Amino acid sequence: MINIPKGTKDVLPEQSYKWHYVESVIREVASLFFLKEIRTPTFEHTELFLRGVGDTTDIVNKEMYTFNDKKGRSITLKPEGTAGVVRSVIENGLTNNVMPLKMYYETPVFRYERPQAGRLREHHQFGVEIYGAKGADMDAEVILIAYTLLKKVGLNVALNINSIGCPTCRKAYNEALKEYLKDSFNEICPVCQERYEKNPLRILDCKEEKCKAVCAKAPKIIDYLCDDCKEHFESLKSYLSIAGLEYTVNPNIVRGLDYYTRTVFEFVTTDLGSQGTVCGGGRYDNLVKQLGGPDVPCVGFGMGIERILMLMEAKGIEIEDRTLPDLYIASIGENAHKKAFELCYGLRLAGVKCEIDHMQRGVKPQFKYADKIRALNVITIGDSEIESSSATLKNMVSGEQTPCKLAVEDIAKLLI
Ligand code: ATP
Ligand code: MG
Repeated sequence: MINIPKGTKDVLPEQSYKWHYVESVIREVASLFFLKEIRTPTFEHTELFLRGVGDTTDIVNKEMYTFNDKKGRSITLKPEGTAGVVRSVIENGLTNNVMPLKMYYETPVFRYERPQAGRLREHHQFGVEIYGAKGADMDAEVILIAYTLLKKVGLNVALNINSIGCPTCRKAYNEALKEYLKDSFNEICPVCQERYEKNPLRILDCKEEKCKAVCAKAPKIIDYLCDDCKEHFESLKSYLSIAGLEYTVNPNIVRGLDYYTRTVFEFVTTDLGSQGTVCGGGRYDNLVKQLGGPDVPCVGFGMGIERILMLMEAKGIEIEDRTLPDLYIASIGENAHKKAFELCYGLRLAGVKCEIDHMQRGVKPQFKYADKIRALNVITIGDSEIESSSATLKNMVSGEQTPCKLAVEDIAKLLI
């Protein structure tokens, strides 16, 4: 017996309608905000993530699934969605076209993490990527996309925002942070000790308790923003207010990826305990240039689909199962089975979700089966129905019975 790899999950046939529902809301919201879908490969050259995600991040340091292909090239399974999109945008010259470039993706994401509830080694993300707009109104729009989706699926979330400035203001802040951390250097974890020189901001994102304790009174980056970054952040807040969206400024949010500039945000819920973040994003104005493309600003987010489903389940939110058959045709005897087969195919072509017996069952077990698959209506045919070319359509929810002809158009009329 070979088991499923640790940290991965099957979506079983009885459950997949829940995914389809969330995916349909994703598509609906995407179209409302005029986003087009982009699909990029599941694997990329490892170099892309080293340069794109950043080599001081947890993802690059410990979480990537990296291997050499048969020609010895280093390949990595996507550990996040943005880098591949940026690669494609540059490679296809998409920023030469109409701007802003507004896109979304849905992708599997692979991270070698310690599996727990809501934390998998393969999960799926819905993400948004918008290129070309530098104003904070676009940051607000991106936040509203995530909010609209979470609202539509019935979740209550709180928005946390922060600004981590630009390289100019971050320089001053990094000095102040290093000065503050200097005396506690021996108390922070070895990984953070390494971050101290390379990227001290990252220390604020460490999940180790001792590092969190040391950082509790650290200077806040928001107090070190340059005038432009300050104005951008104020503008974001005003657009969020125009939309009537409540937020909390949380100076501890710095996000786990190196590429962010200015706006960073997270949507959190308290229902899921420690894995309460459902969505994280922000602005990354220097990423495209850093990966060899033109100087184009970007803003976006990534949202965990498994976490959304998990939260919906925890809250008892019911999802309508649209896969239920409209009709089950039970048959008694071989002639009736042939008639059922004929009608069933005709009805399917006419747009009726229809099912019949394929297990040579007697009529009673057929009824049991129709009940099990929650068929909304049942027609039973035997020799006498064939002879009279008529039958009775029984609505399984209301119990109502309606006489009908044994003809595709007549049955279809009753069901569509
Ligand atoms: P966390 O702080 O929970 O590790 P993160 O900062 O690593 O999250 P991002 O890289 O921003 O998360 O990913 C965006 C979203 O993807 C998260 O908000 C979360 O909903 C989801 N997510 C991230 N890692 C996992 C995982 N291992 N399993 C399931 N969902 C995940
Ligand atoms: Mg993480």
